[in-house]
Amino acid sequence: MAGRRRTSQQMQAASDAVVVPDVTPKPPRASRVKMMRQYDLVDRVRAYNPDTDEDLLNRAYVYAMMAHGEQKRASGDPYFSHPLEVAAILTDLKLDDATIVAALLHDTIEDTEATRTEIDNIFGAEIGALVEGLTKLKRLELVSREAKQAENLRKLLLAIADDVRVLLIKLADRLHNMRTMEFMPPASRKRIAEETLDIYAPLAGRMGMQEMREELEELSFRVLDPEAHAVVMQRLDALADRNRNLIGEIETQLSANLAKYGMAAEVTGRRKRPFSIWTKMERKSVGFEQLSDIYGFRIVMSDIESCYRALGVVHTTWPVVPGRFKDYISTPKQNDYRSIHTTVIGPGNQRVELHIRTQEMDQIAEFGIAAHAFYKDGAGSPTELLNRESNAFAWLRHTIEILAESANPEEFLEHTKLELFHDQVFCFTPKGKLIALPRKANVIDFAYSVHTDVGNSAVGCKINGKFAPLSSELENGDEVEVLTSPAQSAPPSAWESLAVTGKARAAIRRATRTAVRDQYAGLGRRIVERLFARAKIIYADDKLKGALPRLARTSIDDVMASVGRGDLRASDVARAMYPDYKEERVTRFGGKPGDAADAKSKTSPAKTTSAIPIRGINSDLPVKFAPNGGAVPGDRIVGIVTPGEGITIYPIQSPALKDYEDEPQRWLDVRWDIDETSPQRFPARLEVHNVNEPGSLAQIAAVIAEHDGNIDNIGMFRRSPDFTELTIDLEVYDLKHLSAIIAQLRAKEVVARVDRVNG
Ligand code: MN
Repeated sequence: MAGRRRTSQQMQAASDAVVVPDVTPKPPRASRVKMMRQYDLVDRVRAYNPDTDEDLLNRAYVYAMMAHGEQKRASGDPYFSHPLEVAAILTDLKLDDATIVAALLHDTIEDTEATRTEIDNIFGAEIGALVEGLTKLKRLELVSREAKQAENLRKLLLAIADDVRVLLIKLADRLHNMRTMEFMPPASRKRIAEETLDIYAPLAGRMGMQEMREELEELSFRVLDPEAHAVVMQRLDALADRNRNLIGEIETQLSANLAKYGMAAEVTGRRKRPFSIWTKMERKSVGFEQLSDIYGFRIVMSDIESCYRALGVVHTTWPVVPGRFKDYISTPKQNDYRSIHTTVIGPGNQRVELHIRTQEMDQIAEFGIAAHAFYKDGAGSPTELLNRESNAFAWLRHTIEILAESANPEEFLEHTKLELFHDQVFCFTPKGKLIALPRKANVIDFAYSVHTDVGNSAVGCKINGKFAPLSSELENGDEVEVLTSPAQSAPPSAWESLAVTGKARAAIRRATRTAVRDQYAGLGRRIVERLFARAKIIYADDKLKGALPRLARTSIDDVMASVGRGDLRASDVARAMYPDYKEERVTRFGGKPGDAADAKSKTSPAKTTSAIPIRGINSDLPVKFAPNGGAVPGDRIVGIVTPGEGITIYPIQSPALKDYEDEPQRWLDVRWDIDETSPQRFPARLEVHNVNEPGSLAQIAAVIAEHDGNIDNIGMFRRSPDFTELTIDLEVYDLKHLSAIIAQLRAKEVVARVDRVNG
């Protein structure tokens, strides 16, 4: 490197010995960007790499600037400002000369007259190969819209197979495009942001480049969900107002406490980014207030031993929040990340998350693979060096090797399970569209992620061609076909607790709320119409409209839903419409006044015409007992609402209730409202196995009659040579009465067994 000129302003291009002046163009007046000057770039590189080849940097600067000439970006800035900013981003990552130069040249082959041969001749084959890799990626982007995303991802990984620096430049390229995307048409903005969030941000994370990942996520989030972004920002700002200077105070206290024990530490605090806060809120479905780790603090120590000593000081000074301690120093993450994590109730009673690590770990935490990619003495190729030093790179190489061997992208996905995205799963629709979901997501999440209508009408699914339950947890690379039915307009409300993503949950809640309301409104309307018919008064929507204020309801639907739910009595509706209306004696099942009173006399068979003494039903809903077996006082009971029919009372042990498990909105909490002395009887069913001998049936009937049970019906449903199996429907006062009869029957020699039947 002897004889290299130090002043960038008077640089010579080595190849043709032409004097190159500083030719940084003046940006147009409208431009927002102050373009970096040639010597700024050189200074930035020299700041971390004193041995940088300034000639090379200067030649590349001039070459790219000349090549792009008058080209403009969408913003009106000279096109050259783009590769220059990409190069600047890479200087933040402290990358080597070849990477910086390739960044300057990255769009020249695709967009200008430049060729690979020319670049090879001027800058050498290493840089030529990097630029060609990036050119391939750019071409891929241009054709990718309709192509399968699995295929694209495969090509992307193959393109970076030769040199990981291609990926680093590609990420910087994407970052700059995301930073300056406001001049793009909205549709492409959205597409690019989606792709960034799905592919590039996780890829940056997998390579350990935290900063890069977060900024990519942040910029995408702002484009894809501006409302959510604004909400989080608002809350963060409000919090910042309330906790003015909290970060500074905590920093000071942490440093002071460590200093007390003779430890020099570099303490920095920061507020987490809106995207990470938002995803945490979504993933854990907690509100903003419950999030503890809005503030994060980094304690950088001189060596590993002092990291653990600092941890000791922290833990003896502030109470530890249990379950939050992680030691990634002894067990590094797959992307080379090392750090001790802990959360304490810190100064000001604020829960704060602390990361304790060494300087070197800090570099890797921030720059990941890029921290390894910078090599000072040029000993060995960057690839060899990375292979030696980086887990993340080893993983990438391994992934790409498998990829190179497999014939098709599906096979590749199957092999690698795309571990790349370690906190996400990537699945595909049958048409190859990539759907990114958080880990543990299931088919329900997938369906809602495709479209709300698909979620709402999902009735089944095939995963990789095989039928599977909708609750199946998805794995990377799964191809999911959601089967829908137009007959299902709303999902079972139980899905809400099955879904993992906030999007699916919100959609399910919305859909079931509407569906339940519709059901209740339908039920309410029938009840109202029945009451009006019975009372021989005329029902009309218009008339009810006029009565809405009296009912303190805002719409007819609202009134009907209230009646259906039992919050409002149909007779109140009638009175609101016809103030003269006199309430009939309340009866069930259309019985006439007087029936109920008759039913109370012990001599009359109660049948179904009697009023059912149950609390928890505050309306005129028709009530009946479960058809097979009924329920008797003393049973724990529930009511099941059937729109258009009314309420059916089941004993809690009834196996029939299984059918309604998915529809908790139909369950009514009801209780008996009857005292022990009531003469009212209730239906029950017994299954009796009796020994075949003359008169056995008579003996059974006699036992029931002797114990004051009314037999309604006896059915013989199976007969073998020795035994007969009977069902006996009977009416009893309550559970105690029924149990007594069962015990008496079991005591008979002709009876082999007796069981209560709950339909
Ligand atoms: Mn570019």
